[in-house]
Amino acid sequence: MIEPASSVPSSAPAPAPTEKEIIGHLQRKVSASRLTLFLQCRLKFFFRYVAGIVKAKTAALHVGSAVHAVLKAWNKARWKSQPLTLRELHDEFSKAWADVGDEPVRWEQGEEAEEKQTGWRLVETYIRESNIPAESKPEAVEVPVETDPHQHGLPALIGVLDLVQAGKIIDYKTSGQTPNAEKVAHTNEVQTSIYAVLYREATGRREPGIELHHLVKLKNPKLVITALEPMSETQQARLFRLLEACVHGLDVRDFVPSPGLQCVSCEVFNECRAWS
Ligand code: SF4
Repeated sequence: MIEPASSVPSSAPAPAPTEKEIIGHLQRKVSASRLTLFLQCRLKFFFRYVAGIVKAKTAALHVGSAVHAVLKAWNKARWKSQPLTLRELHDEFSKAWADVGDEPVRWEQGEEAEEKQTGWRLVETYIRESNIPAESKPEAVEVPVETDPHQHGLPALIGVLDLVQAGKIIDYKTSGQTPNAEKVAHTNEVQTSIYAVLYREATGRREPGIELHHLVKLKNPKLVITALEPMSETQQARLFRLLEACVHGLDVRDFVPSPGLQCVSCEVFNECRAWS
């Protein structure tokens, strides 16, 4: 028996989403990285999330991803009450280093070996200086959370909480400079406020506090912990106002560039120069 054409399974790939569909999706679900990039430079946001331009990763980004992957493995092992030895952590680091995913890394001549050593020294520093005992069990590790979009009349917020330990939301960062406590509280406010909203959604409780754990890439690496208060009413109102501005900007296709100091290291610099 010959099947009607309409019921024959097709191997043709699904058509690529249109720009309108992509923008519609971006308006319905907002993450900290998307909102932060939109506020930083709307044209860069357009290139990355609407046009889907993918560039090679920088060395700094690759170091950060590898360190993050090892700390995730360390936390997951503690959560299972099977803490990893330093040797096992090093194996995890080698695995994470080799995994570049879909984006190749933009290495300068002879740079990789040095950066790899830097990454591993950051992990060692964290294990030594974080004072988190290997046998202590975290409450949550890498938990994806999504808010109910109807709750505030805003898009759904999505995100992954790196670690919740002793009730506190902990987020990892790698940095080339020692952070200033007041400035990092401000520059990370979009992210920490979104995490606070996600935590409250997931637990039904107000977070006792948020900590930013910066691993600083110095000759002698160090860990700097910035402890932040729970999100205030004012911070929540600021976040919601920024979300409204983002949704509106997407509505009216407001993708203008924001030339500034950040352009020096922008991966879509050439595309930006061609923009008109
Ligand atoms: S070069 Fe500057 S203005 Fe242009 S897209 Fe990049 S960050 Fe935005």
